[in-house]
Amino acid sequence: MSSPIQNVRGFGDVLPAEGPAWAFVEQTFRRELERYGYTEVRLPVVEKTELFSRAIGEVTDIVEKEMYTFTDRNGDSLTLRPEGTAGAVRAALQRGLLHNAQPRLWYSGPMFRHERPQKGRYRQFHQVGAEAFGVPGPDIDAELILLSGRILRALGVRDLRLEINSLGTQAARQHYREALIAHFEAHSAVLDEDAQRRLHSNPLRVLDSKNPAMASIIDAAPDLSDYLDDASRAHFQSLCDMLDRAGQSYHVNTRLVRGLDYYGGTVFEWISADLGAQGTVLAGGRYDILVEMIGGRPTPAIGFAAGLERLVALVEAAGTAPPAPAPHAALVVGDDSLQAETLALAEQLRDQLPWLHLQMPLGGGSMKSQLRRADRSGAAVALIRGAEEAAAGTVAVKYLRDGIEQVTVATEQLPEILSALHAH
Ligand code: ATP
Ligand code: MG
Repeated sequence: MSSPIQNVRGFGDVLPAEGPAWAFVEQTFRRELERYGYTEVRLPVVEKTELFSRAIGEVTDIVEKEMYTFTDRNGDSLTLRPEGTAGAVRAALQRGLLHNAQPRLWYSGPMFRHERPQKGRYRQFHQVGAEAFGVPGPDIDAELILLSGRILRALGVRDLRLEINSLGTQAARQHYREALIAHFEAHSAVLDEDAQRRLHSNPLRVLDSKNPAMASIIDAAPDLSDYLDDASRAHFQSLCDMLDRAGQSYHVNTRLVRGLDYYGGTVFEWISADLGAQGTVLAGGRYDILVEMIGGRPTPAIGFAAGLERLVALVEAAGTAPPAPAPHAALVVGDDSLQAETLALAEQLRDQLPWLHLQMPLGGGSMKSQLRRADRSGAAVALIRGAEEAAAGTVAVKYLRDGIEQVTVATEQLPEILSALHAH
């Protein structure tokens, strides 16, 4: 035998045991997003590399070192999407969705980043994202944050902290950048290689560093909130008022900057205390400049993306996902000669009862082993068709979960018997 082939590092499998938690997370997002008027878009996983380098920014972790970029057979530089916003904006613009409209879109699917795999951090991971275009005011910021909170509550994940901040306008950030550069230059000996390189091109990113050696100079850095322009300050204040009014608690974290260049104004993150350094489960913000960067007219926009692996881990820990449904019934046949007509009976029952989960004893085997399989499947009843029952046109109904006595009924009575199980 040749040696078995393994998966690619960081590209995981979702196995059946995790299915219920994934389905619960995905269905909850879909339901709540639809309630707020978001409509689904399905976007390609491959885009032109230029889309990401332009949108996300050349001097960011993603573009500098995390993208899966390759040259295809035509010689074009393509990239597996590392995030969904750039592609959503590209599609909205290209397909004319932004013409005199304020579309609210959502998407779900795999993203790809060449990061160091560890718990909560993979090379293929999954996000659900929401993007709202054309609304400049803080009302959409507030609604999007409240919507994200509602989804997380519906998932039953507890101990999440909401952090919010404003990055201000580009002009305000320009002043802040200068102050930051001056501060970090005064401590250049402590800066690591990444920070040295980014100091002049993207000093805000230095604030994002997780290097403990730099923690104290980052702490001592000037505060973005002291550099905010009046309009951003008013926008942020009114967002805070709206959240207060809606009873949503939050922490203002003036060091929250987010890792992509297109953000400006409001940014927010939902952070779990239970996931260590990989604690952010949902993050977003305004990106009013992005549509223009990609070639459209200036269009205000805001969105979020949620990391599904991290949310699934929290849902599994909380035990809030409904379990996979057990079959209502499992058929048991006396011998192989009855298999064909029992299969036909099963189809007939599925036609009559569209909700029915029914298991056939495929592959046959002794009645004893079929009964054991029926029991293991979690089915409520076994429907037994031995030679005797088949000849008489009856079925023996054996209740597997409660003490109800076995009964033999005419085959035509089965829908009624099974409907009683469904009602429970
Ligand atoms: P982090 O700070 O954890 O690296 P990020 O700021 O790079 O996150 P975003 O680009 O904002 O993340 O993506 C939104 C969410 O997607 C994150 O909050 C996280 O839940 C999830 N996510 C990001 N990268 C990964 C990854 N490599 N593996 C699993 N989930 C991820
Ligand atoms: Mg990251």
